[in-house]
Amino acid sequence: MPPEAGRPTVLVQFLTLGGADVDLYEYRFETRYLPIGRPYVGDVRTVDGFRWQCRGCGEVGQPALFTTDYLPKELPEARTHANSHASACRSKPRPSGT
Ligand SMILES: [Zn+2]
Repeated sequence: MPPEAGRPTVLVQFLTLGGADVDLYEYRFETRYLPIGRPYVGDVRTVDGFRWQCRGCGEVGQPALFTTDYLPKELPEARTHANSHASACRSKPRPSGT
């Protein structure tokens, strides 16, 4: 799914303790990591990976130790992290609904 204006197509949602959604969705981004996984790097390329974001506090998830989005093979890790965040986050839905 290409990044588009507006809300992306959500694959999975989790509910925070305060009632906000944590959305997990496909996310296209550029990376130097190779398909065989981290920490192998090559030339910059575009991949269809994943990202999650809390609609309450706004936090955006990242794989452990890396400041990037989740690679195509990292959906299970992204799902686990999003669920863990929802289990601990007490934020409520934003009044604007965004
Ligand atoms: Zn949160």
